[in-house]
Amino acid sequence: MTKILKIRNESDFEKIRIAASVIKKGGLVAFPTETVYGLGANALDVNAVKRIFEVKKRPLDNPIIVHIANKMEIYQLSRDVPSYAKKLIKKFWPGPLTLVLKKAEIVPKITCANLDTIAIRMPDNKIALTLIKEAGVPIAAPSANLAGKPSPTSAQHVIQDLYGKIDIIIDGGPTRIGIESTVINLTASPPVLLRPGGITFEQLRKFLPKLGIHPSIKGEFLKEHAISPGMKYRHYAPSAEMVVIEGEHRNVRRKINELVQIYKKKKKRIGIITTSEFSYDADVIKFIGKTPASIAKNLFRTLREMDDEKVDLIIAEGVKEDGLGLAIMNRLRKASSFNVINV
Ligand code: AMP
Ligand code: MG
Repeated sequence: MTKILKIRNESDFEKIRIAASVIKKGGLVAFPTETVYGLGANALDVNAVKRIFEVKKRPLDNPIIVHIANKMEIYQLSRDVPSYAKKLIKKFWPGPLTLVLKKAEIVPKITCANLDTIAIRMPDNKIALTLIKEAGVPIAAPSANLAGKPSPTSAQHVIQDLYGKIDIIIDGGPTRIGIESTVINLTASPPVLLRPGGITFEQLRKFLPKLGIHPSIKGEFLKEHAISPGMKYRHYAPSAEMVVIEGEHRNVRRKINELVQIYKKKKKRIGIITTSEFSYDADVIKFIGKTPASIAKNLFRTLREMDDEKVDLIIAEGVKEDGLGLAIMNRLRKASSFNVINV
């Protein structure tokens, strides 16, 4: 049985105690963060973390981000916090920035997928922070979806994927940012961006002028590049086939119209994800917003809606790759299994 706890305002916060006691006892609780919903367990409890991998069907070599509610907890989880990490924490925590650091002994191997490093962040969401504080332990939490599926940005998405398999789902409404945290590896010199997310590369560069970008972020996955194990798995994928069209607006629209005609003749049901008000001759058209922030917020929900609409092919317009656009394009390309057409 999965219990759903709806939390809409501070007076509902009593319910978080119930969820925290479940975490303490080794149970699994899905909860909102500012990025996406997480599937949480006591990060220091081997059996609890094992259950996360089982219910998500997550490969055991894909490590989990550990969430804390107090900046100082980083010193219990990592044995080496460089001085520039402190500046990042001061500026960006709580917030969508995950730091990969050398792991401390007390963290079980399973949480970090046998690596010598640990990914840590402090979420910027009152429900998440209260849950972690009340549980009194760091909470390991990957996104609360089945492995490979689009990340959940509402409790409804968590229910679709995990109802009946976990103890509690905290429903705190839709998430504010909608894509996952930025992950940077601070054990590399110079540090490297492993996953673009809610904090942009440009923001980070002001503090880390030498920050590099991992090659797999823009291009297709290359095996030798698998520093962050999460990189090598199919991700965010809708059931339908998907293609991303990148390039100048006019060319993108022309190419999409061309594809629509081709696939219509093949009797395919076509869904289009657009960031302009431009209309297409397709079965389903979803406008996901104009600004990068609104596109990020609507992205995963739209991918799930396309599956609900039972389309055969999703065609998505690409966006400019600066700011949040880098994270948006990373998710779109991965969702399409790098089925990208440049025009
Ligand atoms: P998710 O669980 O969906 O939030 O994804 C977590 C991401 O952080 C995955 O891409 C992981 O591979 C990455 N990650 C977690 N821990 C580490 C680590 N110790 N080193 C490198 N990447 C990590
Ligand atoms: Mg995930």
